[in-house]
Amino acid sequence: MAFDQLADKRRLSHAYILSSPSPEKQAEMERELAAAVLCSAGGDKPCNNCRDCRKLAGGIHPDAVYVRPLVDDKGREKAEIGVAQIRQLVAEAHVLPNEAERKIYIIQQAEKLNTEAQNAALKLLEEPPARLVLALCTSNARALLPTVRSRCVEITAAADTREDEQGAKLARSYIKRVADKNAWELCAFCTENEDMDTATAKIFVESLKNCAVDMMSGRQETFGLDGSSLMALCRLAEKCEDYLMVNTGVKHIFGLLAAFSASGEE
Ligand SMILES: [Zn+2]
Repeated sequence: MAFDQLADKRRLSHAYILSSPSPEKQAEMERELAAAVLCSAGGDKPCNNCRDCRKLAGGIHPDAVYVRPLVDDKGREKAEIGVAQIRQLVAEAHVLPNEAERKIYIIQQAEKLNTEAQNAALKLLEEPPARLVLALCTSNARALLPTVRSRCVEITAAADTREDEQGAKLARSYIKRVADKNAWELCAFCTENEDMDTATAKIFVESLKNCAVDMMSGRQETFGLDGSSLMALCRLAEKCEDYLMVNTGVKHIFGLLAAFSASGEE
């Protein structure tokens, strides 16, 4: 599962985008991240047993702050998360945690942040307060501004964990072939996979992007690829995502992927 990436590394980032089409998955990732941030155990985190883990599980940890769309006077959820809600967060960001080492702000349904609110949140990303972790949970990371996305570690989970793992495995296998500079192998891989359905292809290119981002930030072994090759891979995966969004055929996507070379030429 994509979130194991977080458990693998000892150091937490200050900002995450937790993205999944499944609200249950989002909630699961959100809980895991919050527990990892707040847990006060000495060894593996979260321990699910210390005072902080227990308070979090009980929904009463004062250092886990949740933001979600407000409800209007008729009891309906507002369509947007406005700038006022975010400004309040920013104003309190430098206040030290109450109990834990760090505190976490969790913005749910972050795709509903309007542009002004996202720009306000940028303050937290550009000059992150030392003991704060920001998590943007969303069903659609693409609704967030590129300036926001580029400053966050993006963790994506498909609705189905098994599909997710298969996507990641396939993505690593593709990247390995790119790194080996074996055009024939790369071509064979793409031909083998060009008949996959669109939904699976979407998971694959998403995994490809996640893998490349992870490799860039040292969370996964890079097969010897340098930063600029990984960046080019990332752009390629995004381009494929865009194409799939407008219903470009999967064969065409694998044609693009087959033509990619690690020298950065596309
Ligand atoms: Zn704990």
